[in-house]
Amino acid sequence: MSSTIEILNQSVRGRVITSSDAEYDEARSVYNAMHDRRPLGIVQCVDAADVMATIAAGREAGLDLAIRGGGHSVPGFGTVDGGLVIDLSVMNHVRVDPSRKVAQVGGGATLGDVDHATYPFGLAVPGGVISTTGVGGLTLGGGLGYLTRSCGLTIDNLLSADVVLADGRQVTASADQHQDLFWALRGGGGNFGVVTNFEFRLHDAGDIVGGPLFFEFDDARAVLECYRDYIARAPEAFSAFFGWQIAPELPIFPPERIGDLFCVLVTCWNGPHEEAERVVRPIREAAEVKAELFEAMPLPALNSAFDDAVPKGMQHYWKADFITELTDEAIAAHIEHGAKTPHISSSMHLHPINGAAQRVGAEETAFGHRDKNFSPVIAGIWDDPADNEANIKWVKDYYEAIHPHSGTDGGYVNFMSEDDDHRSPENYGANYQRLAAVKAAYDPDNVFHVNQNIVPA
Ligand SMILES: Cc1cc2nc3c(=O)[nH]c(=O)nc-3n(C[C@H](O)[C@H](O)[C@H](O)COP(=O)(O)OP(=O)(O)OC[C@H]3O[C@@H](n4cnc5c(N)ncnc54)[C@H](O)[C@@H]3O)c2cc1C
Repeated sequence: MSSTIEILNQSVRGRVITSSDAEYDEARSVYNAMHDRRPLGIVQCVDAADVMATIAAGREAGLDLAIRGGGHSVPGFGTVDGGLVIDLSVMNHVRVDPSRKVAQVGGGATLGDVDHATYPFGLAVPGGVISTTGVGGLTLGGGLGYLTRSCGLTIDNLLSADVVLADGRQVTASADQHQDLFWALRGGGGNFGVVTNFEFRLHDAGDIVGGPLFFEFDDARAVLECYRDYIARAPEAFSAFFGWQIAPELPIFPPERIGDLFCVLVTCWNGPHEEAERVVRPIREAAEVKAELFEAMPLPALNSAFDDAVPKGMQHYWKADFITELTDEAIAAHIEHGAKTPHISSSMHLHPINGAAQRVGAEETAFGHRDKNFSPVIAGIWDDPADNEANIKWVKDYYEAIHPHSGTDGGYVNFMSEDDDHRSPENYGANYQRLAAVKAAYDPDNVFHVNQNIVPA
């Protein structure tokens, strides 16, 4: 295998890091510390040519290939034992064209890289709620966040992608070129090739009014019922996700309440600032707000507000569904298991995916569940591996309680764990067969299989 590394050292411009390098442990680490894998080499690609060379060397040697964008994958798909990691983190360029409202974004950029580059223009790519997340994995799975209701999923704003395929060719997929591939990339994950550049449509979003509103845990039923009803009809420029939150040491909480469990609505209003209070009022009236940080701020500030709560290196185990109706029975199950939230970083988040995201047809992109209103995720996040069993049990018990009320077996691929791999057909619904056919056309040997795999057929 050392000949593979020698070939790579001669053919790529980026660094090739192996176990003999001092940086190996840092370079092989991914966001979810549960995945302590030892690749043969981590290739820090600087351009598409490096990606092509790495794919060729890996295929020649029969090695597994892992693609890493931001490294956030909960199942640890950005690393692999004994194989090669195509690490795109150096390819994090962002070029903004304000006149066309378009951004070119490198395959290894983070959401924070994009926000940093677009905010000075008062523009944004709809992304997620933690700025360290990679654009690559988030986009290819769908991409949901504060602007989903007004601007759609991240994939709904993808105009084209440059993709290095399993056979080493680079193609551009768009509405006019390689249309099947473009369709599959928008939800089908990293199954079809390595995206070296994403081209996104930008939206007007600079300073927003938003932030968290905290309520007593005992008011959770009233808050959830109010949230369910309001988010169905609220102006699309408003978004809010529901969650559980153990109070951290912040000045907004009295010292005696630090460590108590609250429920929270994290809001974002991307409309005229003078209308913010009117828009959020129905939520304030659900129950008494016990603490809040609702104010005008740059969108990048909201997008990074919770980064410190979930640093790299923690243990993660997540489960997810899509749901159409948040039934009273589901609310009861949420409250029963939310009450047992075991760690300050753990939560269940209920993200709305109605509004603009539902104006795209179920067959227009690979992301098939366009009739669903919410994307809930039970995100078990804790620091001590000794607590793995108890925390995983909390997630599994919680999931078993809410799943019967979901009305579908499918969920958001980006919110799942490694033991959810078998759920791919349900996650894509009627689109799965077409995805398998596109996979067969572009990656018939399943070279890209370190992912929520779509088997070529
Ligand atoms: C703390 C946290 C917060 C999150 N918040 C959100 C959120 O608000 N909204 C949301 O939608 N999701 C969210 N997610 C889920 C996130 O979308 C997924 O974890 C996603 O896989 C992260 O992408 P990445 O590039 O960082 O991951 P990586 O681990 O680098 O990649 C995951 C997989 O994506 C594919 N991939 C990545 N980049 C490329 C590329 N350039 N070309 C081809 N394939 C590629 C590969 O298959 C790779 O194995 C969050 C995750 C975490 C851990």
